[in-house]
This record gives sequence, C-alpha cells and structure tokens, in this order.
Amino acid sequence: MNEKNFPLSNEELREVIKKFPTPFHIYDEKTIRKNFQQLRRAFSWVKDFREHFAVKATPNPHIVKILARDGAGTDCSSLAELLISERAGVIGEKIMLTSNDTPADEFKKAIELGAIINLDDITHIDYLEKNAGLPNCLSFRYNPADIMNEGNDIIGKPAEAKYGLTRKQILEGYKIARDKGIKRFGLHTMVASNELATKTFLLTAQIMFELAVEIKNQLGINLEFVNLGGGFGIPYRPTENPVDFRAVGEGIHELYEKILVSNGLENIAIATESGRAMTGNAGWLVSTVIHEKNTYKNYIGLDSCMANLMRPAMYGAYHHITIAGKENAPLTNVYDVTGSLCENNDKFAIDRQLPKIEIGDILIIHDTGAHGHAMGFNYNGKLRSAELLLKESGEVEMIRRAETLDDYFATLNF
Ligand SMILES: *Cc1c(COP(=O)(O)O)cnc(C)c1O
Repeated sequence: MNEKNFPLSNEELREVIKKFPTPFHIYDEKTIRKNFQQLRRAFSWVKDFREHFAVKATPNPHIVKILARDGAGTDCSSLAELLISERAGVIGEKIMLTSNDTPADEFKKAIELGAIINLDDITHIDYLEKNAGLPNCLSFRYNPADIMNEGNDIIGKPAEAKYGLTRKQILEGYKIARDKGIKRFGLHTMVASNELATKTFLLTAQIMFELAVEIKNQLGINLEFVNLGGGFGIPYRPTENPVDFRAVGEGIHELYEKILVSNGLENIAIATESGRAMTGNAGWLVSTVIHEKNTYKNYIGLDSCMANLMRPAMYGAYHHITIAGKENAPLTNVYDVTGSLCENNDKFAIDRQLPKIEIGDILIIHDTGAHGHAMGFNYNGKLRSAELLLKESGEVEMIRRAETLDDYFATLNF
C-alpha cells in the first residue's frame, strides 16, 4: 500500500492557479530529493555509486539540476538531452550516453562533453571512431537474451528487443576497443521497466556480475563500473507497494561480494540510470473540469488531454485521481475522465469511482512526474502545458511555459 499525496492544500493550489492557469504539471523538489536519497542509501555500501538520471523521464534542466546538486549525473539518449545536461551544468563523465541507432552528431557532442559512451552495437565502435573519435571510458550495452530466454516472465523477451550486443559480440567488442587503445571500460544493461519486484533487480545484478567476471577471465579487463540500468518502478495504484530499496541494495551487496569480490574484482563502481523512481511520484498533472456529459456513460471533460499525459491511452496505465478539496469525500460516482482529442482512447480514467464532481473542480492526476509532460505531442493542434516547480522554500516557479499557438505555427512554411 502507498498513500497518494499532493503537496499543496486546496487553498494553496487555488492561489497557484490564479497565477498559472491549468493545465500544468507541477513537480515537488522535496520528493525528488527524497527519492534520490533513498536510492543512494540502498547502495551506500559500495565505494563508488553513480546515478545517471534518465533525462528522458523529465527533460527539464531545472529538474536535472536538483538531482545534480545532490550528486547525480545524467543518462542521455539524444542530442537535446545532452544539451539539457550541459545547461544544467552536468558534463564530463557525469554523463553517460546510452542511445541506440545513434546519429553522428550525438556521438560528436557526447565526445566533446567528455561523456562516457555506452555503445548499443559492435559496429558502432568504428562508426564512433570515424565520426567523433573515441572516449576515455567506453561501455557496452548487454542484451541478455542468451540467458533470459523466451519463457522468462519477469523481464519479457530480450530476444525481441532491439537493444544491446549479444554475449559473444560484447566480448569481441571489448577486445576491439582495447586494441584501439581504450583503457577504461564499463558494462551496461537495461532490461526492466516499471518493475517493483526485488528479485528482478537481483537477477539483473547476478547476470551482470557474472559477465564482469567472464570479461576479466577471458580478456584480463577489470571493469570500472557495472551499470544496472533504470526500470525501478513506482506504485501507480494505491494498492501497490513501492520498490523495497533496502532489500534491493542488500541483495545486490551480497551478490557483489559473492561474485565480484571473491573473484578479485573489488573496486567496481555500481551505476544506475533511474528516471521514473526519481521523479515519477514527484509530479502531478493539474487540470480543471470544463464539462460533464451524461450519455450511455458519465463523462468528465478536462481542460487537458492525452497530449499532456499519454500513458493511460498508450499503455492503459493507471494514474490515481483526486479532486482538490474532496480528498476525503466518499467515492459515490463512476466516471470516465476524458480529454478533448478526437480519439476515443483519450481517457485519463475509465469507470473510475470518484466523489461527485462539479464543473470547475480541480482534478489532480498523480504520478505524472516521469514520462508525463516528456511524452507530450501536438496531435489535433493541442498544445503542451506549462511545468511548475514547488521548491523546498515553498515558492512555486514556472520552469517551462505552456506552448502557444505561435509555437504551433512556427514551423509552418505558409
Ligand atoms: C528509459 C530508460 C531509462 C529510464 O527508465 P526508468 O524506467 O524511467 O527508470 C534508463 N536507461 C535507458 C537506456 C532508458 O531507455
């Protein structure tokens, strides 16, 4: 179980809305910092722990900066994300470029910034060298389809995933890179997404640590770090339990001793590239009810739509909804909560039990801090909303303005 909170009272929220009209996403600095602290604490046993915050979750330099001040780096997978990282002051090996199908300009910028480059394919060694030059520290993304076969119900089917190198290729890759003069290496994988179960993270760590030993035994390469990827989930439903970071940390510690240290690999850093678990529960989409419609079902119409939050329509994802000032009201009504796109899947909730809703009510859609605003789009000419930040001081700052029609027409040649 977990409690669904919102950091502002109804009165405080109404004051914010006077200044910044709905819809908007609002992020809570305090929660973001707490989330990172929790992750860091889970890995406090390792000498060198690195979190490269997955910028794609919440691509706003203000957010990156909050995490960077506490010691996090970035995980970037596009040119724009590299530029966001740079603007937030995160450069050098604080950056890990984990992209796929990577264009040359992205490699160039990453090399210019001194980033750790994490390659998605063996052919990218040559492509990188030709187009951008080689980095000081190189990593490869492992696709563990050889171990996690089709029947694995925990992680899905790595064999169907476009990412990463096979086991054979990865061993070959280190050899090629070493022959080219690279001396510092890391190893990466990313196989889970929105995962809550401890055992998944332990299985990933075990596979990665065993591969690190194989790399040492076969090639004599002592890896500098093992990056376990992101994928730490959050409990979107009130009935779900959050990731048990203590158990994850302790379990991985045990495997670290048992597999790495006992094989003479004592100083390998542990890296993660968590996005969702850093910002997911620290963001809310705030929206005003503009219509109520009763036909074959009861519909609540919001001033936002799936252009502001795509997850429910795209994955059928659950996002908890509360109504400002009616947090404790009985759930007497059943509604579909909809946006205004000409798509019938533009629904934030279907058959959801909620208190009786009036036009003008403020709906709070929870857990939108990661992969929320970030996934926004302009279909139907809908504009992306503003992003606000509730700072630890209590001040609310607009950290991205809402798009305007001028923005929408700016790319037209007419
Ligand atoms: C999306 C992504 C992440 C972050 O995933 P979360 O589920 O937000 O933790 C990390 N690494 C890579 C390579 C990704 O594509």
